[in-house]
Amino acid sequence: MRIDFHTHYIPRSVERLKNAHADWPRLAIEAPDCGQLYRGEAHYRTIDDRSWDASRRIADMDRWGLDMQVVSPIPVTYAYDCPSEAGRELARVQNDGIAELVRSNPKRFAGLCSVPLQDVDAACAELERAVRDLGLIGVEIGSAVGPVDVANERFEPFWQTCEQLDGIVFLHPERFPGAARLGAHRLVFSSGYPSETGITAAQLIMGGLFARHPKLRFVLAHGGGTLPWLLPRLDQVWSSFADLREALPQRPSQVARSFYCDTLTYDVANLAVVIERIGLERLMLGSDYPFPLMEDPPGKAIAASSTLDDECKALLAGANAARILGLSARTNR
Ligand SMILES: [Zn+2]
Repeated sequence: MRIDFHTHYIPRSVERLKNAHADWPRLAIEAPDCGQLYRGEAHYRTIDDRSWDASRRIADMDRWGLDMQVVSPIPVTYAYDCPSEAGRELARVQNDGIAELVRSNPKRFAGLCSVPLQDVDAACAELERAVRDLGLIGVEIGSAVGPVDVANERFEPFWQTCEQLDGIVFLHPERFPGAARLGAHRLVFSSGYPSETGITAAQLIMGGLFARHPKLRFVLAHGGGTLPWLLPRLDQVWSSFADLREALPQRPSQVARSFYCDTLTYDVANLAVVIERIGLERLMLGSDYPFPLMEDPPGKAIAASSTLDDECKALLAGANAARILGLSARTNR
């Protein structure tokens, strides 16, 4: 079974929300195969019908020998800066649309929901609705709400709800550190997002997230961003300061193996580092379909590896995801 864990989707129903709130993410479909995404009035990205058309996605999966895609909202639609009520409405429309996609093609799609994380109670309620009522398998979140990082204690009830519902958490950055320095050369994509993921993961490790929530299934996008490369230094800092060792009994590199990651590294050598530091059985193929930075074909770096045998490649390409997400059981239902 081959599964692409990291793909994005936007239901067409989002289009009818246009102009509902001034600074909302907005979808404008201007031709059957072309649409524009805006954030407020600012143009964000041109997208095509692969972002909303199930049959195009299935045709691509068939072409690449993929059995299934896990679909997530497009991160620009998190809308954490909007008023809570607006965020809740957008999340509900997206989640209903994703659930509809999954319901109509349960063997080809599984879905992650969006939640209004600016209001933790509302986020917990929407996650519960999405998992219990809509059958989605978890949630995609960003790394922060305004200036408040997800490692902040404010989000404890949210992690608790994720754990109770056994919902997957997929951390996919939407903001980035040092914005003023990343304006040129599209550095946001190349340097900003992976750094953001690495910093956020380091905060969560050092803050003891997994000691408090040992059953949490937490997936990092983009091969964990910079995290795998930070781990030896995190260990060195932890070893050097008693206050850190008191707060976190386990070595950071050991705790990091509680995360799951996608395989989106674009590179065989980098993929090998992620496997070594996070664990072969904790990685799932992810491509970022259908966006310009996607790995094409999905799983290219896995296939290109000369050190992984076929059994290891099969784990990365889908067997891990089927086990971690419970998807094989789902398709046999
Ligand atoms: Zn992505």
